[in-house]
Amino acid sequence: MDRMADFLLLKIILVGDALVGKTCILQRYVDHSFDHSYVSTIGIDFKVKTLHVNGRFIKLQIWDTAGQERFHTISTRYFRGAHGLLIIYDITNVQSFDNVVGWTKDVDTNAGENVDRIILGNKCDLEDKRVVSKEKGQQLAWEHGMKFLETSAKENINIEKAFSILVEDILKKN
Ligand code: GDP
Ligand code: MG
Repeated sequence: MDRMADFLLLKIILVGDALVGKTCILQRYVDHSFDHSYVSTIGIDFKVKTLHVNGRFIKLQIWDTAGQERFHTISTRYFRGAHGLLIIYDITNVQSFDNVVGWTKDVDTNAGENVDRIILGNKCDLEDKRVVSKEKGQQLAWEHGMKFLETSAKENINIEKAFSILVEDILKKN
């Protein structure tokens, strides 16, 4: 755990298939915006957000995969030193849901089993295109001992909540 002055620096990483909404979730959380245009390459590795929680200043360094996930070979450097993870699928894409298990294994190998993690079923605003039920998401998370939320980066549903639950869980250990 790095302590810079009174700041606690926490590294959070986003994983999941291409197009599930990782970059939009990050943009929504940090920049309070949703860009409808396709935002596949953003050319940066992470964004920083500062929080004040229980009298402590927390600097969140949130990493986005910037397209590497397309090749299913995310460099181990990306996982190194992570405190928390958001594993994301798209409720309108069953393949992205089936791949969550694979991402979980990647995470176990590269980030260690002690890293806090939450599964997010994103795009919950697209109810008419839903192919993965909320129950299936909850069941999968339960099987892997993880928390679960459905989110929408577009409609700003549960985005703040996802990060705040993750940070709370991390802070319990730090
Ligand atoms: P990434 O490849 O995982 O980073 O996915 P992006 O953030 O680039 O998003 C992929 C596509 O999904 C874009 O066209 C976004 O506009 C769209 N998208 C992302 N989040 C949502 C959401 O919550 N709801 C809807 N309806 N579309 C979303
Ligand atoms: Mg992206």
